[in-house]
Parts: sequence; C-alpha cells; structure tokens
Amino acid sequence: MAEPPRGYNGRVESLASEAAPDCYGHPGIPSVGRCRGCGRACCDRCATDGVGGALCPACASDRIPWEDRGGAGPWRAFARTVQAALFETERFFRRLRRPGPLRPALAFSLAVHWLGWSTFALLYAFGLPGKGGPSLSTPERILGALVVVGLGGLLGVAGDLLLALCVHALLRFLGETPGGLSATARAVCYGGAPGVLNATVVLPTFLIPQAWAAICTVRAVEQAQGVSWGRAATAVLVPTLAAMLVTFALANAAMGQLAG
Ligand SMILES: [Zn+2]
Ligand SMILES: [Zn+2]
Repeated sequence: MAEPPRGYNGRVESLASEAAPDCYGHPGIPSVGRCRGCGRACCDRCATDGVGGALCPACASDRIPWEDRGGAGPWRAFARTVQAALFETERFFRRLRRPGPLRPALAFSLAVHWLGWSTFALLYAFGLPGKGGPSLSTPERILGALVVVGLGGLLGVAGDLLLALCVHALLRFLGETPGGLSATARAVCYGGAPGVLNATVVLPTFLIPQAWAAICTVRAVEQAQGVSWGRAATAVLVPTLAAMLVTFALANAAMGQLAG
C-alpha cells in the first residue's frame, strides 16, 4: 500500500481514510461495502444480499455442489458436497453465507442418514444368527434391511430438525440471528455430512462421526448466521452433548434390561 502524502496537517490522511475504496470489479466506481465472504470492496451494481451483509459476484455464485446438481448429477454432487464439508471445511461452510433453500438441505440430510445406516442394516439383516429365533428367508432379510435404512434416515432428519430448533433457540437467547431458523436448519443439515462415516460401523464406536459432525456444525452455524465462533460453539455443543448423554442413558438402560 502506498504511503499517504504528508505535510497537510493530517488532512489528506483523514480524507484518504474516509473515502470509500473503488469497487474491485469496477475501477473508478466507489464501493458501498465489503463482501462478507472475501472482504473485497463492492459497488452497488455488484453487491447482492447475503446473511448479515453484502456478497460480491464471485462469492454469490460459489454454490454448494448439492444445490447445483443439475450438471453433475445427484451422485457426484452428493459425493463432492460430503468431500468438501469434511476436508475443505473452512471454504465449504463459507458458502452458507449465501441464503438458500431448506428443501435440498433436508434431502441431503436424508441421504447422509440413509448411507450412514446402510452397512448396519445389511449386517443386521444378513448377520442375524439363525439359531434361537425363526430363520428368515432372503426377501424377509432384504425387507428388514430396507426398513432399518428407511427408519434410520427419517429419524435422522427428524433429529437434525430437533437439533436445529434447540441450536436456534440458544442462538436467539445469546443474541441476533440474521439468517433466521431456516439458515440454522441448513447449517445443521450440511454440518451433519460426517454422518456418512457411520457406514464404516467401526468409526461410530469411537464417536468419530459424531465429533466431526459437531465441529462441522459449529463452523456451519458460525457462517450461516454470521455469529462468533464462541456463540456458535455454545449453541451447537450444549444440545449435542445433552443428546449424547440421553442416548447413553437409554442404551445403558436397554443393556440392563437385556442382561436382567
Ligand atoms: Zn466475495
Ligand atoms: Zn462493482
């Protein structure tokens, strides 16, 4: 950056700091604000509305692959979205600064939970010991697996919506929520992407998908609502930990029933 000229009793410096910088895309046109995504100065013509501030054209067109799946097809778009959420967390969740629809986010959550339950359902259906209980035919086992996957997916989406309600209530209790409930729900749905790792069956026993999803959801809420990391972390972790404790208590009680 060039040194401002000196020798005018500080007048030039103060004028230079008051004048708006030029728009990054339109040299010579003064900017009206900075992009919430990348911080570049934008003019009236370039800026579009984002959550809690304006977005430049580049950030406004940087979309979540799942919501832009016309070209790539649903499988590819799903894989790219999961990959970006898990491994390019910072950049991926910045895309939630752009307001978007709730419906594709719910569909994404359903797909994540279906996939997460798939291996477990197959093990349940085809790994059942034949002794003791009635032996099942192959169609019955396939039907059983489909029921487990279907129910697991629906319960998963219901869980995400419940978590979104709790997170949003806490966020509102702690301050402003410029994105509204829909933005929080989108953040929870996309933040749950590591749930696909439940399909590995081994990782969930070490709570790895759950912990990873919690980290992603904090990042997602932070971006979707434009709130501080601390507020997002409080709003996400309190209900997440409460849900985990309840699950443990229920699992323990069920084990006790089985043992007794
Ligand atoms: Zn930008
Ligand atoms: Zn411009």
